[in-house]
Amino acid sequence: MDTQEAYQELGLDPSASDAQLKANWRRLVATWHPDRNAASNAGSRMQSINKAYQHIRQLRDGGGEDQNESSDSSADAAAPETAEAEPDTSRKTHFRKVRLSMEDAILGCTRTLRGHFTHVCDACLGKGQRVLAKACGTCKGSGAVHKTALFGWLWNEESCTDCGGDGRQRAPCDACEGSGERTVAYRRRVRFPAGLREGHVLSVPSSHHGDVELGLELQVEIEPHPLFTLDGDGVLRCEMPVNGYAWMAARWVEVPTPDGLQQMRLNRDALVYRLNGQGFPTTLRGPRGDYMVRVVPVFPDQDDPAQEALLDQLIAATTRTTAADRNQPMGQWQRRMKRWNSSTKESARDD
Ligand SMILES: [Zn+2]
Ligand SMILES: [Zn+2]
Repeated sequence: MDTQEAYQELGLDPSASDAQLKANWRRLVATWHPDRNAASNAGSRMQSINKAYQHIRQLRDGGGEDQNESSDSSADAAAPETAEAEPDTSRKTHFRKVRLSMEDAILGCTRTLRGHFTHVCDACLGKGQRVLAKACGTCKGSGAVHKTALFGWLWNEESCTDCGGDGRQRAPCDACEGSGERTVAYRRRVRFPAGLREGHVLSVPSSHHGDVELGLELQVEIEPHPLFTLDGDGVLRCEMPVNGYAWMAARWVEVPTPDGLQQMRLNRDALVYRLNGQGFPTTLRGPRGDYMVRVVPVFPDQDDPAQEALLDQLIAATTRTTAADRNQPMGQWQRRMKRWNSSTKESARDD
């Protein structure tokens, strides 16, 4: 059942408040409960009503508090799963989202997940009541009560609200104390393997919480990273500004990688650097792909006289050395330019 179907089942719009949600569910349970409704499809309607309610409740409840932990082998091994598990009344599944940092997704991590799972009471199918084998105390088993209408002398017969008109005594359900719902608090240690992507769903084997067997379906969300981006093709990238002079001089700079800061040597012929095997895992639990660092050389503004003087010195010194070398393009150029210049002067004198 998808979310839209769930809302349709309850006759609601996704914008409905929690109170409206609960009110509609209660009203439908009261209508379709097999205790009360003799229709042959009452049982199946009841099931889909409860399923729809549970689905929406889970979406709205979201997740509980998470806690990051160091690697621990005692954690539940979670396996990603795409197929939906067979519906089983004794086994409950809590769908929730888990946010991982980019580093956790790349390297894997262990988390303790805490949360509450509210589900429809199995004992009373959400009605909050059980039917006793004796007559309703309010209507003495007749299923109807008399009410005095506005003008005293008219007697109105109405369906008994305490028993719903069937004349049988009700008592609050013991299992849910009359609420129709039960809440399980859980705490699970979960191992997230390396290489999980946004939208992956991890199935955590069920465990017992009292009389409820609860499994978790965890939908992974990856937090946006301040430095790294993960391409649609799975390549981890980073764009970083570097000092333009350091880039020209092929100096070492510190680059961030998923494993921490690392030294990298710049090369003035390259703007993009490939760090092999330091990117995002190519597959779940698979080897890591490459990490691409793009550098953006940044040169300072030209209004600092001291810096300008240093640059002039540098230019003068390098021009002298490059111009003196006849094998260098600068040296060849200087010689050709000088030759041309003196020949034009000579031809001007000849005229
Ligand atoms: Zn009654
Ligand atoms: Zn109950």
